[in-house]
Amino acid sequence: MTRHAVVLGAGIAGLAAATTLAARHDRVTVVDRDTAPTGPTARDGVPQGRHIHLLVPGGLQRLESLLPDIADDLAAAGAGIIPAPEWRFHMGGGRVAARDPSLRITGATRPLLEQVVRDRVRALERVDLLQGWSARDLVTTDDRATVTGVRLQSEADPAQERHLDADLVVDATGRGSAAPRWLADLGYTPPTEERLSVGVHYTTRLFDRDPADLGGARNVLVDIPPGQRRGGVALAVEGDRWLVTLMGMLGERPPADLEGFAAYAGSLWVDDLHRIVDGATPVSEPARHAFPAFAWNRYDRLDRMPGSFAVLGDAVCSFDPRFGQGMAVGIAEAIALGEVLDAHGPATVGPRLAEASLPVVQDAWDLSSGAVLAHPEVEGPRPLAWKATTAYLQHVLPVAHRDPEVADALIRVIGLVDRPQALMHPRTMWRVLSGSLGRDAAPSAAA
Ligand SMILES: Cc1cc2nc3c(=O)[nH]c(=O)nc-3n(C[C@H](O)[C@H](O)[C@H](O)COP(=O)(O)OP(=O)(O)OC[C@H]3O[C@@H](n4cnc5c(N)ncnc54)[C@H](O)[C@@H]3O)c2cc1C
Repeated sequence: MTRHAVVLGAGIAGLAAATTLAARHDRVTVVDRDTAPTGPTARDGVPQGRHIHLLVPGGLQRLESLLPDIADDLAAAGAGIIPAPEWRFHMGGGRVAARDPSLRITGATRPLLEQVVRDRVRALERVDLLQGWSARDLVTTDDRATVTGVRLQSEADPAQERHLDADLVVDATGRGSAAPRWLADLGYTPPTEERLSVGVHYTTRLFDRDPADLGGARNVLVDIPPGQRRGGVALAVEGDRWLVTLMGMLGERPPADLEGFAAYAGSLWVDDLHRIVDGATPVSEPARHAFPAFAWNRYDRLDRMPGSFAVLGDAVCSFDPRFGQGMAVGIAEAIALGEVLDAHGPATVGPRLAEASLPVVQDAWDLSSGAVLAHPEVEGPRPLAWKATTAYLQHVLPVAHRDPEVADALIRVIGLVDRPQALMHPRTMWRVLSGSLGRDAAPSAAA
């Protein structure tokens, strides 16, 4: 008997999980309903893939720990690895002065990013990719206590079914995961779902890029300030192109026609995106995407799950995409999966993984939902802790526009490198306090 793990879903979280499992199982089969394109083109199973997908610094760092030298592979495939000094990050009424070059993001389209990661994972000796098959149901022992496999259905011929035996099944099928239904069908309580409605809409186009644009900057973020509904991001991607995503929230929809797109970019509180788009040559059709709400399946609150079954990635929690957290959180969960299996084996992997990954999911949720709740029109709970954090951030942001040390500390938190409490480090608090009082870089702190 060999030990066989099955990962459902070959998105970023599934590929990261397969990497973790390949170091611990004799065989790993990654199942996806899509058949991956041979080149870096968008695919149906990941409709969000036509829009900006960057790995924040904490995501890239974690991916490199799973797949050493992946940044080199990405660069060799034409992607950028973009350090903080090349960003123009506009939030809180100014430009964040980050300068630490070790804070890096990816500059690639999602199809290229996924292709490079997929190629690395497929090259692992123990990993097979089974494409064109959709997960239908879990198979369990008679007492339903342990998952022993999964039933699949062919995408090409729905009458065709097959069954894979497995010692471990990991669900990484994304936001549409059927795991809550599978658990209910097996007699388990499904997770409750926490939601936060944001009504976000994306419109994205590719444009030719002149490397001299915006002084050579390769990433621009124009955040949506409270009281407004419009923002956007531009990312320099492979092939000397700008991937420009315009965003609206609370139902605001950026237009798709070129003239309307440019006018929308021109209506933002900073004109960087308009400078890129105005008069530039589009090299793609527009793509649109609606993201109605954050959704968190609270597996961490379940008392019971069948053994040898775990869930990760967007199947657990999908965050407002404007904050670029989803892939990084999925990768962090994949790393936690390995730690849980090493410490406890597969029998209790589901609840233990939910518990082990709770800090990173909670941090990402608090950061992005916290920012969204600063918009008074958004409906949701605003507990005392949120009020205190929001009040502190109102001091951090203006100082981060002038003080690179505070800016780097802020980016490390937003980029999921450090936990939010790092912003409460006495040195950072001192700089924030003295900066707020108009005494930037107080002598004792600058030493
Ligand atoms: C518009 C938009 C922009 C975003 N931008 C960013 C960003 O900049 N940075 C970032 O980190 N995150 C971003 N995200 C979030 C990111 O897309 C997700 O968090 C991330 O892709 C989650 O990965 P996943 O592997 O869990 O799910 P997915 O990437 O959705 O992959 C799920 C996979 O499962 C497969 N699948 C689905 N059902 C089945 C089934 N029944 N059987 C077999 N296979 C199945 C699908 O084909 C797919 O391959 C964005 C999201 C949106 C909507």
